[in-house]
Order: sequence, then structure tokens, then C-alpha cells
Amino acid sequence: MLKPESTIGILGGGQLGRMLAMAAARLGFRCHVYSPEADSCAFDVADAATVAAYDDEAALARFAEAVDVVTYEFENVPAQTAAVLAAHRQVRPDPQVLAKTQDRLIEKQAIAALGIATAPFRPVDSAADAQAAVAALGRPAVLKTRRLGYDGKGQRMIMPDDDAAAAFAALGGVPCILEGFVRFEREVSVVAARGTDGTVACFDLTENEHRDHILRRSIVPATASAGLEQEARRIAERIATAFGYVGVLAVEMFAVRNEAGETLVVNEIAPRVHNSGHWTIDGATVSQFEQHIRAVAGWPLGQPVRHGRVEMLNLIGADLDDAARWLTMPGACVHLYRKGEARPGRKMGHITRILPG
Ligand code: AMP
Repeated sequence: MLKPESTIGILGGGQLGRMLAMAAARLGFRCHVYSPEADSCAFDVADAATVAAYDDEAALARFAEAVDVVTYEFENVPAQTAAVLAAHRQVRPDPQVLAKTQDRLIEKQAIAALGIATAPFRPVDSAADAQAAVAALGRPAVLKTRRLGYDGKGQRMIMPDDDAAAAFAALGGVPCILEGFVRFEREVSVVAARGTDGTVACFDLTENEHRDHILRRSIVPATASAGLEQEARRIAERIATAFGYVGVLAVEMFAVRNEAGETLVVNEIAPRVHNSGHWTIDGATVSQFEQHIRAVAGWPLGQPVRHGRVEMLNLIGADLDDAARWLTMPGACVHLYRKGEARPGRKMGHITRILPG
């Protein structure tokens, strides 16, 4: 258990690092943020900053020596970066979890090995594999690069008239996974924290709406039966426990209706705080950011209580122009990330509202 006033090292300087540092400050910790970009928005609220590349091993070693524990705000931390940091300081969550979640094929295999449902999938390493996989799984199907995809980047829908080999080429001919298309009723996520003592605390099931593959709106509680919500929590807990996870993770799932009623299919795991948990800052007594800081510091997790029905809206690109409208809306909490240019598709801030009823 870290002493109060210890320093938490955060790898990555985006809005997630920024909100982690703010939560850490509330508990009396200091934060040191490491990012290659000099203009990182997390630097504004951190006690110390390192601007260096993720492969600068001397800078990584100095950073690790200067902090009491290292965590990260993004899942694509290079394996060598994590190894260098871990040689100097405890890294939480353990970097071995990154190896599982950075590759969609390994991730799906790990989830399936726990007996948890995923979309049907096939590895695709060639144009011929792509055609065979589509023949096996049917259409529509979704071809995704195994690594480095996010917000719909690195993926292609394969519709009845599409050529699977052309889709594989369009993704650059890199190793891919083909997933059968899941006809879901809604998308939901569980944001869960696991402490060093193995305790797991889940936030309430959140319903997520995407626009152009980017999360637009989250609402909690999700429309779901008590049984489905319980199942979602069980899935998140099983994954966190099996991975020996310490910190906050998000499990994104599809709610599907079949003959047996409603069930859940896991889409992916984010080994970090997650956009669909942003509502917890204003909508719960303990936020996902605070839970993550508590977990990586070896502190007991909180038992969050939700403040009612909560809605979170992302401000994406030019949505920022409307921020002023929300500043005076009763009950709205406005968060702006100081991200600079409001490029299309860029997450610039978010708004949380406690809804009546
Ligand atoms: P991902 O990058 O895997 O999170 O996918 C982004 C979005 O694409 C998801 O939130 C879904 O809306 C959609 N999607 C991804 N995979 C599938 C699938 N196998 N079936 C149906 N929709 C999918």
C-alpha cells in the first residue's frame, strides 16, 4: 500500500491520463506523466512531466526511478517499453495483460478459453484465408486488423457483394481476424476495478451508442434485466480475476436476443479506464479514475454509489462549439480536455447529466 503523498507514474498524456491525475490529486498523491508530446493535456494537472519517446530507455528508467508505481492510460504500450519500466518499478496492471489485449486474436482466444461467448472468429493471414473465413462465417462479417485498431480504424465490413480478398488488401495485408457479424440489440459495457487483494468492484452496466464508430453517448443504468446485468458483472469479474488484473478495465459487450432470451457476447477488453466510464466522475461517489488510482496504489477499492440516472455525451470535433450551451444547462457537468485543434473525430471533452427520475 503506497503511502499518502507517493508519486504515481502515468504513461501517456491524453485526457485519460489527465483525469487519472486529477483523481490522484484528490487522494493526496502526486503524479508524474510520461508522454512523447510536449503539448500533452495531462501535463497541465501533473506534478512532474517527462517528454520523451516510448523507446528512449534511459528516459524510461529515470521516470520509473522517480515514481513509486507505474500505470498507463493506453493499451498499445510497446512490449519493450513495459519491460524497461518493469525492470525498475512495479507496473500495474501487469504488462503481461497487454500481450493479451493488444492482439484481437489472442484476446478472443483468452476470453473464449474462460467459457465466455465472443463473436465467432477466424485468423486471417492471407487473401485465401480471408475468402475461406468468409465462406465459413457467412456475411456480413467484420474484418479487423489484429493490432492497433480503434474507433473503427483498421476494420472493414464485408457485405454480400464485397470481395474478402480486396478487404484484406485494403487493410494493408497485415494479420487480421474475421468476426461473424453479431446482430445485437444494444451495446453495453462494464467498467470494473480489481484491487491488489483480489476484490472486484463493478460500476453499473452502461449502455453505449456509437456514431461513425466513435462512442457518442453512454447512459446508465442500461436497459437490461437484473439477470443480464448480473451476468455482465460476472463476466467482467471472471476476466479480471483470470488475468490477475490490478486496476480498472472495461469489457465491451453486445446484448443479443435469441430463443433463450437475452445473452451477452464480449466484443473487446480495454485494459484501462474507459470512455464509457466517464459518467462516474459526476455520477458516482467514487469515479473509475479514483478506483484505478486506489488499485494501483494498493489501497482498498471504494464501493461506489450512483447518483441516479446518468447520461454522458462526448464532445467530438466541432461539437466543442456547442459547449457554451451546456455551461448553463441545469445539472450538466462540463469537462473540456484542452486538446488543441478540434479535428473531426477527435474527443475534445464530455458532458455528464444527472437525469430526472
Ligand atoms: P471495435 O473496434 O471492435 O470495438 O468495433 C467498433 C464497433 O463496430 C463496435 O462498437 C460495434 O458497433 C461494431 N462491431 C465490431 N465488431 C462487430 C461484430 N462482430 N458484429 C457486429 N458489430 C460489430
